[in-house]
Amino acid sequence: MKKKSLISPELHALASQLKDLQAKASALGMFDNTRELVRCPKCGLEEDVTCDGLLITTKPDYHGLDTGLRFAEKPAGTFRCPVCKTRFAGLDEGAV
Ligand SMILES: [Zn+2]
Repeated sequence: MKKKSLISPELHALASQLKDLQAKASALGMFDNTRELVRCPKCGLEEDVTCDGLLITTKPDYHGLDTGLRFAEKPAGTFRCPVCKTRFAGLDEGAV
């Protein structure tokens, strides 16, 4: 017996479109809100989002000024600081 989906076809289509939009936003350097912003526990480099929705990283003394560097997320939920190379877990995942 086939299990009936709890999600309507219309809602499923909307979710699919949202996923596409998030992928496009991410490709443009925009923050897609699929995770929390991260901050390096060692050197303090942190992510921020500009009023235009762009994802940037800033140093503690220069808020709002993009360093041009980006945290590498690998594997998912674990981040590597581009400045001091420290690996740490994102806020959702807890300690590594
Ligand atoms: Zn760091």
